[in-house]
Amino acid sequence: MTKISNPQQDLEKYLRQIRSYQDELHQIGFILTGSITKRYVRCSTPGCKCQTDPKALHGPYYEWTRKVQGKTVTVRLKEDKAKLLMEWIENKQRFYTIVSKIERITLEAVDIIRF
Ligand SMILES: [Zn+2]
Repeated sequence: MTKISNPQQDLEKYLRQIRSYQDELHQIGFILTGSITKRYVRCSTPGCKCQTDPKALHGPYYEWTRKVQGKTVTVRLKEDKAKLLMEWIENKQRFYTIVSKIERITLEAVDIIRF
């Protein structure tokens, strides 16, 4: 038996998939660019233990780093705020992953209506 394709039905199927991705997008709140780093630092105070003992380094310090007009900008944050911003940065990745899926489905829709 030959499968007769129905372009309209196929498009509706793709559109339903897109709607479900849009529901996922709807769950994403803040979207942030940059990265969060956790650092331990050596100070410049003469005689401080951190100069000789790696275990005595100061920190951890959390930093949010991003590019602003080509320049690297770093902001120091408290741990709880850093974790929150990390989630917002992950949201950006999730957002674009879903957008890519929608684009992929849309390309398949183009294949359907092309002929
Ligand atoms: Zn020190």
